[in-house]
Amino acid sequence: VLKKAVGDDPAPGAIQDHPPQRPMVSYQDIRKSFGETEVLKGIDLDIKPGEKITIIGPSGSGKTTIIRMLMTLEEPTSGVIEVDGEPLWHKEVKGRLVPADEKHLRKVRGKIGMVFQQYNLFPHMTILRNVIEAPIHVLGVPKQEAVERALEMLEKVGLKDHVDKYPAQLSGGQQQRVAIARALVMEPKVMLFDEVTSALDPELVGEVLKTIKDIAKTSNMTMILVTHEMDFAREISDRVVFIDQGNIVEQGPPEEVLENPETERLQTFLQHFR
Ligand code: ADP
Repeated sequence: VLKKAVGDDPAPGAIQDHPPQRPMVSYQDIRKSFGETEVLKGIDLDIKPGEKITIIGPSGSGKTTIIRMLMTLEEPTSGVIEVDGEPLWHKEVKGRLVPADEKHLRKVRGKIGMVFQQYNLFPHMTILRNVIEAPIHVLGVPKQEAVERALEMLEKVGLKDHVDKYPAQLSGGQQQRVAIARALVMEPKVMLFDEVTSALDPELVGEVLKTIKDIAKTSNMTMILVTHEMDFAREISDRVVFIDQGNIVEQGPPEEVLENPETERLQTFLQHFR
């Protein structure tokens, strides 16, 4: 007989008390200085599993730094970041948080995938090889399985017919879609997209945004995006977070934040996109 945990069966008619859902990503009083300059001034931000959030704000406000800290490319000056319930920059030893070592960082970072502005594909490898490289060498997935997974992802981003080509034979938009497939194939719990269309020619932006939109609509991955594409932000996000000068100034559903900004700072920022 399987033992049931106490509290598994509520009395008939009882209102079940759902514990609050654990955030997938949690920033707790995060500060970051470069030299004398404090660029993040106490960021508190919880992101639910499956939530799609977009960070907007003026250039230099700290958006990229927020994302880079999750990718372990930048260490917070103070505060705690948790991913899937685990501290990222710290390690729990006997109930106390101590600075994380490289092994711990690598483990938690494995839950996170990122697509940058610069797609940085390996130029001397075919598209398929670009996508199977990390599953084989980082995750130890057998080659045949890695190829199957890669083809599935390349189909998802609409590039199945190009798998044997080299990056230079593709357009910038196609290369960026390969970069998306390369991140997805690692099956991250959290995907980060940092201004992924900023380096593209205008006519190539649409296909990349559409690819990301399709992924957002069909997957339960947590997604954090930095973008200047406001229509895209409105369509894709559960929540928009406006950052200015290292602080979260406003946040909420896109229709509220983008249509009815409360602060003058956000009103002024949004005027640039009208
Ligand atoms: P955003 O993404 O909103 O444009 P960033 O997070 O890139 O803003 O940068 C925030 C501020 O931090 C900027 O003033 C930028 O110059 C500064 N900054 C970012 N990275 C570094 C670094 N490695 N060294 C010094 N200053 C930096």
